[in-house]
Amino acid sequence: MNKNIEKKPTILVVEDSEIDRKILVRMFRDKYNIIEATNGKEAIENVHANENISCILLDLIMPIMDGFDVLLELKNDFAYSNIPIIVITTDLDTDSEIKVLDYGADDFCLKPFKAEIVRLKVKNLVDKFVLEKIYRSRFDPLTGLFNAENFYKATELLLDKNKDSENGKFAIIITNIEKFKVINELFDTDVGDRVLIQMAELIKRDIKKIGIYGRLELDNFIMCVPIKYIDVAKFKKQSEYLTKILDLNYSIRLSYGIYIINDMSLGIAKMCDRAKMALNTVTGNYVNNLAFYNDDLRKKMLFEQELTQHMDQAIKENQFEIYFQPVNSLKKGKMVSAEALVRWNHPTKGFISPGLFIPLFEKNGFITELDFYVWDRVCAQIKEWLEKFDYVVPVSINISRIDTYNPKMVEYIVSLIEKYDISPEYLKLEVTESAYTDNPENLLKLTKKLQGLGFLVLMDDFGSGFSSLNVLKDFPVDVLKIDLRFLFDFKSRGRGANILTTVVKMSQLLKMDTIVEGVETDEQLEFMRNIGCDSIQGYYFDKPLPKAIFEERLKNPENNYKSEIIEIDKDFETAELMSNEEIFMRLINDVSIAFGLFGYCPEEKMLKPINVNDNYYKILEMDPYRTFKEKMNFFDLFFSEDRTLVINCCDRTIKTRNKEKFITFIKKGNGQKLFASIDIQYVHRTETYYMISLMLNDIGDTEGLKKFSDR
Ligand code: C2E
Ligand code: CA
Ligand code: CA
Repeated sequence: MNKNIEKKPTILVVEDSEIDRKILVRMFRDKYNIIEATNGKEAIENVHANENISCILLDLIMPIMDGFDVLLELKNDFAYSNIPIIVITTDLDTDSEIKVLDYGADDFCLKPFKAEIVRLKVKNLVDKFVLEKIYRSRFDPLTGLFNAENFYKATELLLDKNKDSENGKFAIIITNIEKFKVINELFDTDVGDRVLIQMAELIKRDIKKIGIYGRLELDNFIMCVPIKYIDVAKFKKQSEYLTKILDLNYSIRLSYGIYIINDMSLGIAKMCDRAKMALNTVTGNYVNNLAFYNDDLRKKMLFEQELTQHMDQAIKENQFEIYFQPVNSLKKGKMVSAEALVRWNHPTKGFISPGLFIPLFEKNGFITELDFYVWDRVCAQIKEWLEKFDYVVPVSINISRIDTYNPKMVEYIVSLIEKYDISPEYLKLEVTESAYTDNPENLLKLTKKLQGLGFLVLMDDFGSGFSSLNVLKDFPVDVLKIDLRFLFDFKSRGRGANILTTVVKMSQLLKMDTIVEGVETDEQLEFMRNIGCDSIQGYYFDKPLPKAIFEERLKNPENNYKSEIIEIDKDFETAELMSNEEIFMRLINDVSIAFGLFGYCPEEKMLKPINVNDNYYKILEMDPYRTFKEKMNFFDLFFSEDRTLVINCCDRTIKTRNKEKFITFIKKGNGQKLFASIDIQYVHRTETYYMISLMLNDIGDTEGLKKFSDR
């Protein structure tokens, strides 16, 4: 085909009169490719068959389908509505002219044709259309930034120009708006568009003069800048800036992946892949929102590719093995349940930890299959032990966040207990906290459904994500699992201890059991005992055990640990506890009851607040400043006859370490009275005082009076 023909724009002439059609063809054939149609139906067929029609000359009166209907159909079809249409007609009464314009015609030409006018009208419309088309293909229509292809080209030029220059190294940065889909859902797509446009403006403003930038698919933006402009502090401010300017009452979070260009021969697309790889490591990570590419990431990707290739085969060949980690009760001195944890016994790589393959399977969807397999094996195992030993402990299985979206999940679990004929009480279900924060409504329904079927539901990894204790109120889980490893370098002092104490006390109040995971040292164990947390899972007692060893433990339930632990008290650093630690505050605030940690000095009969939640001030109508600065004594809130009662309770709890509960009258900050139920419990001892946790609930006058008279 002649190249010139290819380059000519194409127009469609729709005209039933052969003479008129010939005139038009003659008029345009030197500058345009012409497609002819003799009625509206043919016209539409031609438009569908040819992508590159740049203008349509359309007669109005035609057989089969007239020009009005063609106009109506094309102008209402998003794919074709921007193709310019010139209506050709002998004359036009006012009504028809209005109709044609209303249907979206771009211009008219009257017969007999004035050749020069028709040519110019067509030329103007075609030029405009072609230009727009080029622009659309090169720029992102929403934000006006480069699209990927143009970004690559422009970056190539930039890098080439600076190959040997003083400007030093460049980097590719990809930034992504976290949970952009959620924004689109929460608000609507108009708001989503606004977010993207503001994001584009921000990037433009920040790097217009120093680099190249564009928008990749959806909410991924890309930049190439000299590395001296990479400013982590500035990146942090970008999220804040967007949140503020958009004013949606929703925090916008951006994450960043950065590739420092070391290897110019790589090609821009690969460089971008590397930045993307770095980005993927921080998407969804609330603590860290920026990562640099390094070669380990590439190795990890290759490793993951290899695992992906072998996973199907691995299930068939029983390469996945299940280990069991006991959960021990301190009070009972024995194993009370266990958790099933999967390992991949790979023929060449040896044992692979689930930490490596579970996140991968969650990404590629294989987790559903693996979990179904593991659950099946666990149920079969429970059945086998019941038959062999007539005894088993409940075993918990892990339910991935992804499984919670699977409508067949509940049905499947039920089918398993039927298949193996075991009672649901032997199977406990662990769902990670992040699933609850991801999709609360779904999880609430799911939790209730499973509990209705007789299963115990555990919230796993509490504290790893963003739940406040308030979340617990809304989720009626049976057991809370807290992992010490999320509490930063846990020691029986400082913020970790502070958080843990609060969580355990709160969950007791909400009638949930707690299991503390990751307990490794004497000190940690002792702390758990002191705050009244009974169930422990951790290396201190057991690592996850292969089936055979675990079986030994099951066979001899008495064969469990029985060591006596001597109670030792370590100092608390008051200063640390006093600190308004953000996480601690987040956990204890919002809870609908008043809660606080207090220091008790028996000799001085003093009970002083160390840290309290917002509701403490609200319920008691206290001034936060006075509460601390004037070192108020909590006992002063009681009327004289109850003061002794409270002091006795404090004395008892530091002796017995048991919880003390009572109902009383209390003086609020504004002098008014309040009926409250109060729980106090010993937590720890320091050199100068006993630490006590205190929970106070406003029970209202009616109930208060009733209970008070029973006292
Ligand atoms: P997880 O559910 O939080 O399981 C507890 C993890 O903590 C286990 O790691 C366990 O070996 C480890 N652990 C327990 N006590 C201690 C301790 O005292 N010190 C230390 N350093 N670690 C302790 P593991 O077996 O590597 O499993 C990692 C994660 O993989 C699990 O975390 C769970 O999220 C996931 N996982 C394991 N098996 C399955 C499964 O069958 N299905 C699904 N969906 N996820 C699984
Ligand atoms: Ca678990
Ligand atoms: Ca856990």
